[in-house]
Amino acid sequence: MQEIIELKLVFKFGGTSLAGPDRIRNACNLVKHYSLLGNRLVVVCSAMGDTTDHLLALLSAAEEGRRDEMEAILTQLESDHLEATRGAVDDGELRRAAEDRVRSMLLDLRHIISGIYFLRESTPKSRDLILSFGERLSTWIFTCSLRSMGVGAEYFEGGDAGIVTDSEFGYATPLLEQCLTLVRERLEPVLSRGSVAVVTGFIGRTPDGAITTLGRGGSDLTATLLGWGLGADEVWLWTDVDGLMTTDPRILKTAKVIPQLSYDEAIEMAVFGAKGLHPRALEASYYGGIRVRIKNTFNPSAPGTLITSSSINTGTLVKAVLLLRDVAMITVKGATAVGRPGSAARILQSLANAGINVVMISQSASESSISLIVARRLADRAVEAIKRSTDAGMVQKIECEKDVAVVAVVGEGMKGTPGVASRVFGAVAKRGINVRMIAQGSSELNISFVVKESDGVEAVKAIHEDYGLGA
Ligand code: ASP
Ligand code: MG
Repeated sequence: MQEIIELKLVFKFGGTSLAGPDRIRNACNLVKHYSLLGNRLVVVCSAMGDTTDHLLALLSAAEEGRRDEMEAILTQLESDHLEATRGAVDDGELRRAAEDRVRSMLLDLRHIISGIYFLRESTPKSRDLILSFGERLSTWIFTCSLRSMGVGAEYFEGGDAGIVTDSEFGYATPLLEQCLTLVRERLEPVLSRGSVAVVTGFIGRTPDGAITTLGRGGSDLTATLLGWGLGADEVWLWTDVDGLMTTDPRILKTAKVIPQLSYDEAIEMAVFGAKGLHPRALEASYYGGIRVRIKNTFNPSAPGTLITSSSINTGTLVKAVLLLRDVAMITVKGATAVGRPGSAARILQSLANAGINVVMISQSASESSISLIVARRLADRAVEAIKRSTDAGMVQKIECEKDVAVVAVVGEGMKGTPGVASRVFGAVAKRGINVRMIAQGSSELNISFVVKESDGVEAVKAIHEDYGLGA
């Protein structure tokens, strides 16, 4: 294992790294190892395994009055967490104390859920309260497991650690200034005492004391905020892969781990669904200048992927080629749009009103057509929304193609380098693949294009091989 000594580090363990007693032990052993080397550590825990999904299913079952399903999920949650406590906390006395609190949290959850069952409704506020049980349980079990291994550990709920947020339940935004000050005030003394602070990921608290959640995958954001407040040397996001890859290894076996990315590149990758990354978490660390590393709990000696403020030139222009499936392309054509200010705005507004996210946009300079990419499952709704927004008398043709995929080529080295686009499209053309739509942000970090779905994998291979990204 790397000899990292005397640093201030924040470790965040994702759900898969905490699924079951053995994995919790494994994670605790990593914490113990690095803490014995003289590092000062803060740990952020996600909920165990798929607990958050189970809590969401529990909520729906309660709201819709499906009592048996509700009981089944509650029973499963109880046995998962009690089993984890028994298996991960060795010391008899500590184990009993740990179990007592786990039982009492589970009982609270039962009470709250039965309230929702009888009312047949929940509010965003009560939903967040229910979701918070996942992280509160896992973090408490983790704390007790560390203690029973002889590591001094103190349990913190997000709000107690200084994560104060607005009251947009479900996707709350941390109040940055306050957070940074409070985090330092609350956690620095713990580190000075030589203890490990163990903090619930994903949840915060409004100034008047209500529990909020930071959006799915929000534990990453908790970790980078804590790192920022404490001025940590690095934040390590422990997950179940060796790092971010040059492409999906299921597409191409030669895919490699990318050793280093800039924040901008990593955000591009996160948007395209790279595993183990929350875009807002990176934004927070971008402004705070904190180094973030993605590490594999199942292969801790691998260096992982390091994300820093700027790209270290590794001699390659392109760092990753990604494929986004399950999308649809909508094209709106019509001469009425030409030179008419606001036509693009109207289309986008209609989609925003319908709650539909636009993944990619392209408009030709003639303005006679605009193409958009949206999630495939939302395509029909998107078409409807655009149709409804059309003024009477306007002639517009709306086409929707559902058998498409987006290929995204990411790399900061492409910036200002002539010929990248021609090489990318040349590689694709050599395989006889037709490109349907193209978009490149003026940041030049990313070239995205659309092909027929059946050509997606081949297009990725063509570029990956042409740039020699593979092993
Ligand atoms: N448990 C939450 C989720 O599954 C938060 C996280 O894992 O980061 O989304
Ligand atoms: Mg999770």
